Amino acid sequence: MIIDGKKISSLLVEEVKEEISAIKKKTNKSPSLSVILIGDFVPSQIYVQNKKKKSLEVGINSEVIRYSKEISEKEVIKKINELNNKKEVSGILVQLPLPDQINKEKIINAIHPSKDVDGFNPLNVGNLASGYKAIIPCTPLGCLLLIKNIESNLSGKHAVIVGRSNLNGKPMAQLLLKENCTITIAHSKTKALKDICAKADILVVAAGVSNLVKNDWVKKGAIVIDVGINKIKDRLVGDVDFNDVKDKAKAITPVPGGVGPMTIACLLKNTLECFKKQNS
Ligand code: NAD
Repeated sequence: MIIDGKKISSLLVEEVKEEISAIKKKTNKSPSLSVILIGDFVPSQIYVQNKKKKSLEVGINSEVIRYSKEISEKEVIKKINELNNKKEVSGILVQLPLPDQINKEKIINAIHPSKDVDGFNPLNVGNLASGYKAIIPCTPLGCLLLIKNIESNLSGKHAVIVGRSNLNGKPMAQLLLKENCTITIAHSKTKALKDICAKADILVVAAGVSNLVKNDWVKKGAIVIDVGINKIKDRLVGDVDFNDVKDKAKAITPVPGGVGPMTIACLLKNTLECFKKQNS
C-alpha cells in the first residue's frame, strides 16, 4: 500500500479549519502565527510562503517578519521577546537554517515554550522525553499519524529509526516509545545498518541520503516511512529506494506526497493547540 500523505494531511487540515471556524464563531478570536525569516535562502523562502498560504487557508492569521542575513542575534531575540509578550500571537516559528552569527540554541531557547509551534524548546523536548504533554515537532508528529493510519496499535512492534537529529530522529523515537514500541536508533556511525533495518516492523528513515534503503534492508510486511527529501537533478527523491522497496513493504510513503504534506498540516494543528491552551 502506498500511503497517501496528501489525502491524510488534507483531512487533518480540514479538521483544523473546522475547529478554528467554530472557535471564531463563538469567540470572534482566531489563532495567529508569526514566522521569522532571515536571509534569502531560496528553500526557506518557499517553505515560509507555503506555511503562510496554508495558515491563511485554515483561518490562522499569519505574518512573516523578514530580516536580511546580516541581522544581529540580539535584534532577533528582541523581536522574539516582543512576540512572546503579545497576547494575540499564538505561535512563533524561526525558519532554519540561520546565518553563522546567530546561535540556533539561543534562538530556540528564546521562544516561549507555550508559543513554540515547532516543539524545539528544551522544555517541550523534555516534556516529550518524560512522557508528559508537549508540543511535538511537526515532522515526527506527521510520521506518527501516518503510521497510526495504517496500524492503530503499535505495542510491542520493533521500530528502527535511521537518523538521530533533534528535528526528526530523536522525537520520532520518543513518540514511538510512548506507543510501546521497542526502539532502535541508527545513525551514520551505526554498524551493520542493513541488518538492523531488516529487523524493523516499522522503519522510519531520516538520514538525508538519497535511495539509501534498498529491498533487502526491509522486512516483508514492514511499514516504511521515508522522511528524506533529496534533490537529484530536478527530481525529488527520498532516503528509501521507493520502486525497489514498495512491493516488499506492507505500506510505504512516497517522496514527494508522503511525509512532506503532513509536516505543514501538523504545524497548523500545533498552532491551534497553542492558541487553545493560551485561551483555555
Ligand atoms: P540531519 O542531517 O540533521 O540528520 C541526519 C541524521 O541521519 C544524522 O543523525 C546522521 O547520523 C544520520 N545519517 C546520515 N547519513 C547516514 C547514513 N549513511 N546511514 C545512517 N544514518 C545516517 O537531517 P534532518 O534534519 O533530520 O533531515 C533528514 C532528512 O529529512 C533530510 O533529507 C531532510 O531534507 C528531510 N526532512 C524532511 C522533512 C519533511 O517534511 N518531509 C522535514 C525535515 C527534514
